[in-house]
Amino acid sequence: MADCELCGVARPTLCPVKVNDPSVKSAYLTGTWRGINEECLEACLEANHNRMTIDARKCNLCGIKNVVLYQVKIQVPIFQEPYHREVTRALCESCFEACEDTKKRREAEKEEGHHH
Ligand SMILES: [Zn+2]
Ligand SMILES: [Zn+2]
Repeated sequence: MADCELCGVARPTLCPVKVNDPSVKSAYLTGTWRGINEECLEACLEANHNRMTIDARKCNLCGIKNVVLYQVKIQVPIFQEPYHREVTRALCESCFEACEDTKKRREAEKEEGHHH
């Protein structure tokens, strides 16, 4: 099991999103991977298509600071009514692009599956 980087929910598999984490950039020049679950991936894509800037300190996915950040509404499951609570996360433009790439990759994989 792995925990989603955005909502903290543990899932057997997560969607890998390739981000440019500035704190480890020297070690990982081509980017590092963050795992988020499908719900959060969809929330990020939605937020990318309907951009609303947010006044946040840093990106919740890659940790970059001093860039324009956009808000992403994430539904975090809880154990009592109404069984989820909405939290706001901040994502940068490059993470949005990484999410789009992840989505495309997943769709391509599904395509592959149909041919077998
Ligand atoms: Zn999540
Ligand atoms: Zn980011």
